[in-house]
Amino acid sequence: MSGVTLFLADEAATVDFGKRIAEVTKGHGVIFLEGDLGAGKTTLSRGIIRGLGHTGAVKSPTFTVVEPYTIGDTHAYHFDLYRLVDPEELEFLGIRDYFEGDALCLFEWPEKGAGILPKPDLTITISPQAGGRSLKLSPQGARGEAWCAVLALEFK
Ligand code: ADP
Ligand code: MG
Repeated sequence: MSGVTLFLADEAATVDFGKRIAEVTKGHGVIFLEGDLGAGKTTLSRGIIRGLGHTGAVKSPTFTVVEPYTIGDTHAYHFDLYRLVDPEELEFLGIRDYFEGDALCLFEWPEKGAGILPKPDLTITISPQAGGRSLKLSPQGARGEAWCAVLALEFK
């Protein structure tokens, strides 16, 4: 089993696919979200966080770097590293604490945290295509492979 590629025609499809990601991850793991500004990383994150059961707003963490969510027993952290000047800044934020307890950690602009962030379970690359978005899911390790095996059956 390797990666999965799929096409999402509009914003609603991106949010819905995020809900499927929430279900397969069951609220645990590390996901890197790659793609240019406006690709849809925050939109997909919103779908994932809503899929975990969060009913309030999902703000872009562009200025706060991280937005935390607690939904029942599930903890999710949505990061946007776009404004980081140096990956070392993540140490001052206490980044290691976020990985305890096997929370779901979503990273926009993960390349800005190179050397500090752990290896992800899954990298999702989003690119504009024909008015919608093309998503490439690349698993890195057994957990991400298992998620992709489930999703591959739905998005053939
Ligand atoms: P990023 O976080 O990658 O900078 P955002 O999620 O903030 O991007 O913005 C993505 C933009 O693309 C939004 O205007 C959203 O409505 C739009 N969008 C999201 N998914 C799709 C899709 N599948 N097709 C077309 N437009 C989309
Ligand atoms: Mg964003």
